Amino acid sequence: MTNRRVFLKQISKAGLSLGFAPLLFNSDKKLRVALVGLGRYAGYLAEGIKASKYCELKGIVTGTPEKEIKWAKEYGIAKKDIYNYDNFDTIAQNPDIDLIYIVLPNAMHAEFAIRAANAKKHVIVEKPMAVSVKECEQIIAACKKNKVQLAVGYRLHFEPYNMEMKRLGQEKVFGEVRYIDASLGYGIDFENPNDWHIKKALSGGGPLTNLGVYCIQAARYITGKEPVSVTAQFSPITRPALFKEVEEAITWQMRFDNKAVATCSSSYSYGIDRLYASAENGFFELSPAISYGPFIGKTSEGVMTFPEINQQQTQMDAIASYLLANKELPKHISGIEGLLDVKIIEAVYKAAETGKEVLV
Ligand code: NAD
Repeated sequence: MTNRRVFLKQISKAGLSLGFAPLLFNSDKKLRVALVGLGRYAGYLAEGIKASKYCELKGIVTGTPEKEIKWAKEYGIAKKDIYNYDNFDTIAQNPDIDLIYIVLPNAMHAEFAIRAANAKKHVIVEKPMAVSVKECEQIIAACKKNKVQLAVGYRLHFEPYNMEMKRLGQEKVFGEVRYIDASLGYGIDFENPNDWHIKKALSGGGPLTNLGVYCIQAARYITGKEPVSVTAQFSPITRPALFKEVEEAITWQMRFDNKAVATCSSSYSYGIDRLYASAENGFFELSPAISYGPFIGKTSEGVMTFPEINQQQTQMDAIASYLLANKELPKHISGIEGLLDVKIIEAVYKAAETGKEVLV
């Protein structure tokens, strides 16, 4: 009974700080979503949408005719709701699509997010929001001009363990946070030497852009602060034939105005998935922390226990409930959030290239 009480208390604490649980919304209406780019992550999103209460996968946009057939069959997509990259803009005339979710290689996000906004559809763009601050600004401006809402696919803002890390840090439960270790890496073989992740023109960068963005996000949501400066170091390259254009691994440090520091790493050559925060009176940590779970968490006072969730489903239901209720999306997943992370990514690259501390 005591355990159950502690457990329920923990859930409600994380739930409160989340602010992103779906709004209680009583309607049969569903948000009709079109996915752009039917690769690996779109598959997770499609399953999340299928399991969701407030969303429906209504349309797809792909450059591969075989995927049209496969996806239409799997998710019951009507022919009129299937587009390719060339005729995509005619989606503006489709009244059955409410939101367009961009799941393309990073350097294609800006073009397609802007086209989606110009089609007067709400937009979700995957992380990293784009490959430059300038592109992020262009996406934000296009959504504003067309009066549509914009979100970045920051799934961890719907995930209880991560939101507990945010609460413990921002509410100073263990005092001021002084030190953060945030790292995400996967040892990836890259059998295809032309994989877009290692082609700068499509990815914008290496693991920093794809994985490190989560570490930057986490350090920001745990402290509730913006870093004032960064230093960074590229790691040695172990596979020079693959890593000609982007880094294979990188470490960087961020100084925050409240005197906290974060040390971070992201990599395509070794596995690591952890968040650790040390505060004046204790610590709190997750490992695994950033992937799709299950997560393991503890603090200096004991274990953390939260329900395991389908992150994509929870994200989609929360976003849909806001849009269906005509409410403004929470700012924690807004375009400005995505832009701030990209700004820090740019500073980290500059620091690694120059060997100097860079002000953000
Ligand atoms: P992927 O390679 O599996 O899919 C990319 C899709 O884009 C494919 O369907 C491909 O056909 C299409 N595409 C169109 N033009 C292309 C081109 N010129 N080159 C390569 N592919 C092209 O990649 P992914 O892992 O699904 O990543 C897509 C986006 O989703 C990225 O921005 C990535 O950062 C993001 N992502 C997010 C998460 C998350 O947990 N939120 C996880 C993985 C990926």
